[in-house]
Amino acid sequence: MLNTWVVMPTCLPLVLRRCHACGSDRFRTSGKFRVNANHKLIDAWLLALCTACGETAKLTVLERIHVRSVRPELLDRLHDNDPGLAAELLQDPVVRHRNRIALDWDNAWRLDTGGSDHLDREVIDVSVRFAARIPVRPVRLIDEGCGLSRAEVERAITEGKLVAAVRLSGKLSGDFTFTLKR
Ligand SMILES: [Zn+2]
Repeated sequence: MLNTWVVMPTCLPLVLRRCHACGSDRFRTSGKFRVNANHKLIDAWLLALCTACGETAKLTVLERIHVRSVRPELLDRLHDNDPGLAAELLQDPVVRHRNRIALDWDNAWRLDTGGSDHLDREVIDVSVRFAARIPVRPVRLIDEGCGLSRAEVERAITEGKLVAAVRLSGKLSGDFTFTLKR
């Protein structure tokens, strides 16, 4: 039987970017937007505050876009400071590239295993699903989800008892499956 685990975001990730005021490199966003309309052209930014000095950074979402080419639904979400929209935009590689930011997901996610019933079985088949593109090491998920030490997980890999189609020691942010034999 296949079990499903889910890597779930628990809050917005920190934004990695250098602060012009104090040189720190971490910003926290509460998901607030600023929208500015000027002669039918719209600018929109996601606001983030430096975790060290409180300086505000504006992350560009829309830059001088004609109001008619912006979906009304997107405008509503910007005006409503829709927290889901901030999460979507931060995961968009185009937005990250344009603003030269990276994300720090430490302490911003949890692993949902749906209970521990399946852990007593001799063979465990697990499908791991990512609710957001959060880069994590599969070995870390497996030791947490199966209640094993990192050494036990490493040994299971060496002995061929833990198999997957992906590299388990590198970082991943997309769905994968693995099989663990006791
Ligand atoms: Zn600062």
